[in-house]
Amino acid sequence: MDEAAARERLLRRRAELSDEDRMSAADRAPVTLDQDSVGRLSRIDAMQVQAMALATEQRRAAERRRIDAALKRIDAGEFGFCLTCGEEISPARLAHDPSLSQCVGCASEERS
Ligand SMILES: [Zn+2]
Repeated sequence: MDEAAARERLLRRRAELSDEDRMSAADRAPVTLDQDSVGRLSRIDAMQVQAMALATEQRRAAERRRIDAALKRIDAGEFGFCLTCGEEISPARLAHDPSLSQCVGCASEERS
């Protein structure tokens, strides 16, 4: 994958993440429902929705950090090389996710 295509995909994904953030902002708001009017169960429901929205938001934040780091590597001319061993990351791997920063060998070693 060339750098221009990678940059475009990263920026598009970044915009998607921002859209999702905006759409879920209401779910993440502190639970302020009046217990008398909505009852205890609804309050628990609302808190579960909020907890799930927060977890999703944290996943998005982590992905956004990976995307920003990948965009920086493109700017620095270091895109496509493994951050751990310096070898080239396989094009198929980058086509799957241009924000990846490790070759398949290093990534699987870190997981194990
Ligand atoms: Zn590596």
